[in-house]
Amino acid sequence: MRRFTLPRDIYWGENSLSKLKNLEGKKAVLVLGGGSMRRFGFVDKVLDYLEEANIETTLIEKVEPDPSVETVMNGAQKMLDFGPDWIIAMGGGSPIDAAKAMWVFYEYPDVKFEDIIKPFSFPVLRKKAKFLAIPSTSGTGTEVTAFSVITDNEKGIKYPLADFNITPDIAIVDPALAETMPPKLVAYTGMDALTHAIEAYVSLMNGPFTDTLAMQAVVTVDKYLEASYAGDKKAREQMHYAQCMAGMAFSNALLGITHSMAHKTGPAYSTGHIPHGCANAVYLPYVIAYNAKEKAAAVRYAEIAGRLGIGKSNDQASITALCTKLREYNKKLNIPHTLKEFGVNESEFLQKLDYVAKAAVKDACTPSNPRHIDEEQMKKLLKAVYYGTIIDF
Ligand code: FE
Repeated sequence: MRRFTLPRDIYWGENSLSKLKNLEGKKAVLVLGGGSMRRFGFVDKVLDYLEEANIETTLIEKVEPDPSVETVMNGAQKMLDFGPDWIIAMGGGSPIDAAKAMWVFYEYPDVKFEDIIKPFSFPVLRKKAKFLAIPSTSGTGTEVTAFSVITDNEKGIKYPLADFNITPDIAIVDPALAETMPPKLVAYTGMDALTHAIEAYVSLMNGPFTDTLAMQAVVTVDKYLEASYAGDKKAREQMHYAQCMAGMAFSNALLGITHSMAHKTGPAYSTGHIPHGCANAVYLPYVIAYNAKEKAAAVRYAEIAGRLGIGKSNDQASITALCTKLREYNKKLNIPHTLKEFGVNESEFLQKLDYVAKAAVKDACTPSNPRHIDEEQMKKLLKAVYYGTIIDF
């Protein structure tokens, strides 16, 4: 038996934020990130709508990028003091992810962080509150997913929390919020969304419901990402929906080793954090070349190429065309082709290769990857993405 879970309602399109004035409830906590939502006037708008709905609201502000266990626990305490029946999270992936985790400890103050690390092990939520998410970036899809990434700074580990209990009740996908993204963020988050869609489509957990969403997301990203990067409003709007569709797909079909590698290389090097979407964009063509040696995966990559109108007479040629297309996106979006080009120091890369490869193989996204990978193969793959060499293993 399989499961397919999404929010009950997704409000989308121009002015969908105004749905908040009809929200039914008594008290809401509004969880926010660094301040851009306030600067662009969206916080005031939300507060006005909630007042119209007769909902008393308090704020949890300044959730940091890569939110920590500490931030989560402090937020949960604030929720316990206030007693909301709605948790509303607005912003990029970080405030929404943090709010999802706060929700667990608000409903179950005695549960420890360690208790929910194991995927799909959460207690039943919605005894105290429901959850509404409003994304401002077009990438993570967290407004519709069962995932939340929380960092334990003491241990230096990022935990991808997973459970359908934290799939939000309502998502509001209002394109006005996505208009505020700077181009670099458009590029990174857009390639993250494309990676979600492609990895979900070829995942061992794929199925008819996720396939439809994943493929439509790929086609939409292909059509609108460049124009969105150039600042076109209509394209931005379509990208906001595409990333949401990709989120629905991967929340239920899971991901693959592009994400495993991005998770573990991201914070690994002293030359600086590799942004998640950028890492995915760099790795994806190499991972496709690796995975395509598995026949079932090759067929599905070729289907994607076919839908993009670049299919050839045999699967291998179609896959080569797909990888070429992905490299062209990177070039147009000013994303490097290799980790070396990104600026990771060679001796540090080689020194940490064993450790990073081991961690990537163990990542939560590895089991659903369509081709098996062991540590030796992962080392070769990481070397290929560092030096830009051809995948022949
Ligand atoms: Fe991602």
